[in-house]
Amino acid sequence: MAGPCGSRLDSPELRRALQSRIEYYRDLGITDFYRRASSAVTPDDSGEALPGHPAPVQQDEDSAQQLSLLAPVASPAAPRARPADPAAQLRLIREDLGECTRCGLHKGRQHIVFGVGDPRAQLMFVGEGPGADEDQQGEPFVGRAGQLLNKMIEAMGLKREDVYIANVVKCRPPGNRTPERDECETCSPFLLRQIEAIAPKVIVALGAVAARNLLAVNQPMSALRGRWHDFRGTRLAVTYHPAFLLRDPRQKKESWKDLQMVMESLALPLPEKSPPG
Ligand code: URA
Repeated sequence: MAGPCGSRLDSPELRRALQSRIEYYRDLGITDFYRRASSAVTPDDSGEALPGHPAPVQQDEDSAQQLSLLAPVASPAAPRARPADPAAQLRLIREDLGECTRCGLHKGRQHIVFGVGDPRAQLMFVGEGPGADEDQQGEPFVGRAGQLLNKMIEAMGLKREDVYIANVVKCRPPGNRTPERDECETCSPFLLRQIEAIAPKVIVALGAVAARNLLAVNQPMSALRGRWHDFRGTRLAVTYHPAFLLRDPRQKKESWKDLQMVMESLALPLPEKSPPG
């Protein structure tokens, strides 16, 4: 890119970081940019707080940290077309993420857990953050909760490889605690870009943390489940996190209702009986 920033943009890394930052702002509906003498963009600062971020609404104690940058800023956007080569796009996002040290979570991690699945998936699941097994293997949902998620996917008539799975944060929070608000905000731009690259028809938020971060709402699961939400022009459903279902298997029936709603919208055939346990 020739131009106003002169030779600093000769670095391909810097150019790519700037381009991705501009795309991110554009996706948030911010299209006017003003130069400041000291506003150098470095590849490392793409997760900082953004202008135009809506002020948090009244929060309850449980969700005080959960509002995010990801929600629609104004009115819902029209569905976005999938990029020509979503796999290449995902590789680029992974490269931009690099050996991330943008938030404190990097200190305890073994592996970054970026995401897994079909880059052209119609259906994308978003969880909260990696646990111990995921941290060890570098892949989301590979522990007990992951095994249950696989069963849920299979009950829908799909395979794990048919969908895409990612998390709000890409590094394991210590002791599997809930990710802090600043950690979610720092990591969110990468999730947003993954969603844009994949352009799924439907997103399923697994649990309240994922739902609240994606939707920037402050509602209990009872208000979030069982209906459609709009995530920047993409239909989003909320269901229980598989780890919660392991603790309270009676809720599996409820979760199955959510998944059936998703299946209907993807025109997947509905089985006559609900899946076993
Ligand atoms: N829980 C999550 O939210 N994500 C994972 O990847 C694993 C467990």
